[in-house]
Amino acid sequence: MNLIFLGPPGTGKGTQAERISAELNIAHISTGEMFRQLANEGNSLGVEARDKYWGKGNLVPDDITIGLVQERLKKEDCKNGFILDGFPRTIPQAEALEKIIKINYVIDIESTDAVIIKRLTSRRQCQNCKKIYGIDVPPKEEGICDICKGKLFQRDDDRESVIMERLNVYNKQTKPLIEFYKSRGLLRIVNGENPIEQIKADILEIAQK
Ligand code: AMP
Repeated sequence: MNLIFLGPPGTGKGTQAERISAELNIAHISTGEMFRQLANEGNSLGVEARDKYWGKGNLVPDDITIGLVQERLKKEDCKNGFILDGFPRTIPQAEALEKIIKINYVIDIESTDAVIIKRLTSRRQCQNCKKIYGIDVPPKEEGICDICKGKLFQRDDDRESVIMERLNVYNKQTKPLIEFYKSRGLLRIVNGENPIEQIKADILEIAQK
């Protein structure tokens, strides 16, 4: 089962990908997470991507991103299937992807801007295990991860000034993918404003058809 999770930033792609990948025993591939990890490790490509692109709310260039995903898909844990969370984000990325692998469904998780802004400004992530918290899933103890007791942090690009730019970029560069996948008969839409468990059930129903 090879899935793409599409939708604006903050619509819950990461949260759902974490849950669905565990349920279906498939890999969860988040290009955003890959970029953040590279930057944290001090990798020069990762640091450059942060300083020039993602830290400002812009997309990392297609050739870099496509190369990263191409290598990631070769890994053993993708044999059973995968969820691409945050990739593709442009038409050239989608065109490159369809040349290398077959996708079963593209799940578009939709939310309004008002809900997205609320979610993104309250989003926190565990520095250690990467678990995501927010208004829908608050940690039991403020600033501390429920699971591993790691410290929670706010992503650089979840500041309000950067969020608006990310939404602009989504509307301009990523939204056209909805038509791209609709025309290929792969698009399925779920309501990202429903409770988390409902969204999960809706996605599983599509994936298990
Ligand atoms: P995300 O965690 O998916 O919100 O991604 C965080 C940031 O990483 C994005 O705002 C982009 O700057 C960058 N990024 C992630 N995925 C891609 C992609 N497929 N293409 C270009 N840039 C990406």
